[in-house]
Amino acid sequence: MADAFDMQGLRSPRQALEGLVPYSGKMPAGKLILAANESPFNLPEDVRDILQVTAADFSFNRYPDPLAQDLREKIAGAHDVSADCVLLGNGGDELLLDIMLAWGGPNGAAQRKMLQFAPTFSMYQIYAHALETEVVNLPRSTEDFSIDIAAATTRLQQGDIDLCILDNPNNPSGNLTDLADVLTLAQASDALFVVDEAYFEFSERSMLEYLEQLPNLVILRTFSKAFSMAGLRLGYVLAHPQVVDILTRVRMPYSVNAFTQMAATVVMDLRTKFNYNISVITKQRDLLYAELSNMDGVEVWPSAANYLLFRVARSADIWQRLLDSHNIYIRNFSSAPGLEDCLRVTVGNDRQNEMFVAALRESIAALDNEEPN
Ligand SMILES: *Cc1c(COP(=O)(O)O)cnc(C)c1O
Repeated sequence: MADAFDMQGLRSPRQALEGLVPYSGKMPAGKLILAANESPFNLPEDVRDILQVTAADFSFNRYPDPLAQDLREKIAGAHDVSADCVLLGNGGDELLLDIMLAWGGPNGAAQRKMLQFAPTFSMYQIYAHALETEVVNLPRSTEDFSIDIAAATTRLQQGDIDLCILDNPNNPSGNLTDLADVLTLAQASDALFVVDEAYFEFSERSMLEYLEQLPNLVILRTFSKAFSMAGLRLGYVLAHPQVVDILTRVRMPYSVNAFTQMAATVVMDLRTKFNYNISVITKQRDLLYAELSNMDGVEVWPSAANYLLFRVARSADIWQRLLDSHNIYIRNFSSAPGLEDCLRVTVGNDRQNEMFVAALRESIAALDNEEPN
């Protein structure tokens, strides 16, 4: 086979990595960033005050507790499950990788199979490719991004799917799948069934109540979005102890650093303080949705999360103009399969959203007055 890597003085890495594009989420400096679905609010001041005091004589020289037992118990208690149903990771992203390490991968001469519903969170497919896992894709509706539940159930009932990942609400489209339908899919086979609830705090829809009855269910959550901790990296899964035990075998021992464990413990203790900001964000989302719905030439989809997907003609040019003329950086899906001419904006605070709406209006008008290139 031809060597596509063209290494210098070095043998090639695994063939499976050919064609994978490095993820480079670096945000441009000095811009209003509405691209990564982070909270527009920093950690509350009381939380930061405690972190500052604790940091002053923190034992940075010591390894962290590998399983973060204290924090694990706190999170378990908050969800009314036992601690062995909880596993923490360096962001939800690490846990997705652990899941793929354990349930994906080669299967003799073939590959194990992951079912997903695209367009969806791109990391599922990236990890699947990196770990030689076959991706079975059942595309979402081009109208409203819903899943064909009957077709998905039939596909799962064939019995060859090892792992299914459903993002709920779905990123980037923002729509929810009914929990009754998710339940139907989870029960359709013995595949590991991952429900990514990264935006649960905004959607308030969870499969948690079905955890006990579904041995194959995994719920994924994160502190990166509603809890303003994207920079500290913490996610967790809720699953049956047999699933957690398997994931514990492949995880990196010290992936959740000691400072993050400490910070998340403080956040858990003071988590009611986040309720106000979460309600502000969902209110701002609904206002922004109304603004975009009323804008000529813009098609916007309803969202249960803290971002909105919208379609606009010449979206790549609009995206560039927002960046160059207005210093606003949003997510460009213009050429992504199933998302042609789509852009995604993260809901910011009121002032940021007003700036975005004005900038989008100006950009559409400016391009309308120009000859198309
Ligand atoms: C943000 C996000 C995650 C997790 O992000 P981390 O920062 O790694 O915790 C997982 N799934 C989806 C769909 C997301 O948008």
